[in-house]
Order: sequence, then C-alpha cells, then structure tokens
Amino acid sequence: MTPYGKQDINQADIDAVIDVLSSDFLTQGPQVLLFEKKMSNYCGSQFGVATNSATSALHIACLALELGHGDYLWTSPNTFVASANCALYCGAQVDFVDIDPKTYNLCANELEKKLQKASGTKKLPKIVIPVHFAGQSCNMERIYQLSKEYGFKIIEDASHAIGGQYLGKPVGSCSYSDITVFSFHPVKIITTAEGGLAMTNQSGLAEKMRLLRSHGITRAPELMTKQAVGGWYYQQIELGFNYRMTDIQAALGISQMQRLSEFVEKRHVLQQRYHEYLKDLPIQLPYQSIDSYSALHLYPIQLDLECLRKTHTQVFDKLREGGLGVNLHYIPVHTQPYYQKMGFREGDFPEAERYYSRAVSIPLYQGLSFEQQDDVVAVLEKVLQ
Ligand SMILES: *Cc1c(COP(=O)(O)O)cnc(C)c1O
Repeated sequence: MTPYGKQDINQADIDAVIDVLSSDFLTQGPQVLLFEKKMSNYCGSQFGVATNSATSALHIACLALELGHGDYLWTSPNTFVASANCALYCGAQVDFVDIDPKTYNLCANELEKKLQKASGTKKLPKIVIPVHFAGQSCNMERIYQLSKEYGFKIIEDASHAIGGQYLGKPVGSCSYSDITVFSFHPVKIITTAEGGLAMTNQSGLAEKMRLLRSHGITRAPELMTKQAVGGWYYQQIELGFNYRMTDIQAALGISQMQRLSEFVEKRHVLQQRYHEYLKDLPIQLPYQSIDSYSALHLYPIQLDLECLRKTHTQVFDKLREGGLGVNLHYIPVHTQPYYQKMGFREGDFPEAERYYSRAVSIPLYQGLSFEQQDDVVAVLEKVLQ
C-alpha cells in the first residue's frame, strides 16, 4: 500500500538520536534549546518553544493569550480536531468560519462577514486560528488587518506548513500573528516522532508558554515572589502541564531540519508531475495561490462525482483496493458528534461540507519515487476513466 504521507529517516537522523541516548540529558536539555534556536533562525522569528505535540502547543498558546471562560475562539471547520479542541481545554467556546472553495483555507471574506455580524455582541472572538491547509498559507495580510479592526489575537496553525512561505517570508515569522504552531508528527513535513513548537516574537508570550510547558514552575529569581532560600528552591506560579519535548526528539528534529528545503522541493517536483499527468481526469486539482509557496503537506483532489457516476465512497474504496493508502482531510469538525452536542448542525458550513463530500488526499511525500508515483497515476486513471 502506498501511503498518503510518510516520514523520511536517514542514517544521520538515527546517529543523532543514538548520540543523545549516550549523553547526560534524555529529556529537555541542550538539544531542545538548540532546536528552538535553529527553528527561530529558520523562520526569522524571535522565540521558539518546543513541546511534545502541536496539540499541547496550541493549548499553551491559547492560555498565554488568556483565553478562558466566556471567550470565543474561531477556526476553520476543514482541520484536524486539535485546532478547535484547544479552546475547549481553556473553557472557552468554539465557532467556525467557512472555507474558501478555491484554497480550502479559512475564507477571509467569510471571516469579515461573520465579524460584522458579531460586532456589538459578546460573541466576537478573542482568538482566531487560521489553519494553513495542505501547507498553503491563509490570506494572513487580510486576517491581520481584521484583527486590528476587531481586536482579536491570531494563532497560525501551521502544522502542515513548515518550510513554506507567505509573501516571501517563511511561515513561522509571525509577521501577521501572535503565535505560530508547528507539528512534527511523522506524517508532517519533518518529524520528531511526536512533537510541536510555538513560535512568537513577543517575549512575554514565550516566557508564559515556557512556564506552562513545565508545571508552571520557575527557577528564575525575577519571577519568584521571594528570594530563593537554597539551591533546591523553585516556585510554582501558574497551573502548568508536562508538555516538554525530549532531547531525543529535538536531536531528531535538528537532523531532519537539514533536509527540510530538500523535502519541500521534492514535494513540488511531485506536485508538478501530478498536475501534468492528472489534468485530463474528471477531478479538480489543488489550487496554488501566488502569495504563497506551499510546504505541500497534502495533495487533495476533488472528484467530479456527476461525471464519474460513482459515489465518493465507491471511488475511495476502489483506490484503496488498487493499493493506494488514500485518505480524507478533513471531516468538518462541526459535524463530529462531540461538536454536534454543542449545537452545530450539518449545513452550518456548506463549503467545508461540499469539499468533504468529494475530496481525496492522494500519496505525496518526499520519499515517493517517480516509479511509485507513476503507479499511483495508473491506478487513478483506471478508477477514474
Ligand atoms: C497534525 C495536526 C495537529 C496536531 O498535531 P500533533 O502534533 O499530532 O498534536 C493540529 N492541527 C493540524 C492542522 C494538524 O494537521
């Protein structure tokens, strides 16, 4: 089975991990610090806070921006559940903004309309989380403008977008946001097995996220309420968690970073080949906005079901039978039973639902050879012609 995505581990990655295993630090140590530094250098931002997942990074990002009871967080329905769940962890409420049918990203026009409608009520969002779907940046310039007009904070969920650019700058520079979050799950562009990272240019937010990542405990004299009484002394000044990344993970991340540009370039070559070979099939190919250089986490196609005269499920099953580990990104979050219990209904976000009713993610990852890709194309031709 050719999967839709897959990690790429070489001998240098393995050696980097083994070196840490025989060093003094296994959990958070010098490798984590170095990884954070290298990531912020790469992205052109000030501070990186590494965590054990993007989910935990999103959680402490929301807490650092003081999201709590009575607050609203808005995000895209076309995302992994974690982009919305982080609001619920903080006791806040979630709402969604429908997607742009071209990019499948949170639609800035819809956002503006929804903000206009909510203005003057208590339902304006405190935080908006644009998700850079498939690796392509949202219209951040516009969303940033709206944040100034309506007074909300921005967390970019860039779980798909490490190695991508927006308006010539790396995603993660936080030029149009307060915090940007990355994921290093094996299916994403580079991996630390499990892992995440929150990027910011605001020292106060970085400091707060560092505290929350490790139980709310500090040894920094300037943060304590009184002088340390001895070398053992620390203070808990917030309610935090154990969201730390290990040095083993960070060493893997540092090693993977060396090939990040190569990975993204390879994905672009594969995308070009797909564009070329699939253009005559009854499917809609992914659209690339000129503002953005996508990291190309996914290659989502939309089936022309009317022309195919088959159901979505029939086509999906046929592709799986043909040996393609196709997948579907994403089931709109508001249609999940947990969210339906909060009152969301099918029909609430029609563009995300329409996309979901026809979408399939086909294999795209740096390790996919041209021969394997040709086989993928052959299966697609057979099933779709
Ligand atoms: C993968 C993913 C996450 C969660 O990442 P983890 O590191 O697995 O916690 C969040 N948001 C999006 C859009 C993702 O794709």
